[in-house]
Amino acid sequence: MIIFGTSSSTIHPAKLDGGCCPFCKTENQMWIQGYRKYFHIFWIPFFPLWKKVYSICSHCKGVFEKQEFQSKELLKSFEYFENQKIKIPWYHFSGIILALLLITLISVLPLLTK
Ligand SMILES: [Zn+2]
Repeated sequence: MIIFGTSSSTIHPAKLDGGCCPFCKTENQMWIQGYRKYFHIFWIPFFPLWKKVYSICSHCKGVFEKQEFQSKELLKSFEYFENQKIKIPWYHFSGIILALLLITLISVLPLLTK
């Protein structure tokens, strides 16, 4: 039996530079947070799927999607973090790395024993 499916890992929250909350209008209290889905086989992450990022206001605790942002500053800061700061963790590929290692080993082994 092969056990596989999807799981998710949390993206470490980071404080955004500037911008104001779409709800309570508090300035400079916005955080970016989210999670990333990955595909796993036997609980070993194989490859990343999609990520979901959203913004949280530390003042009113409101959660906002990108399309709800009213301030351009917030959107700019959010997109900067989304594209520059949030990288796919290497271990989301560990299944692929393992498989590649195994394939390499299998193809190299006969050469070594000759
Ligand atoms: Zn707020």
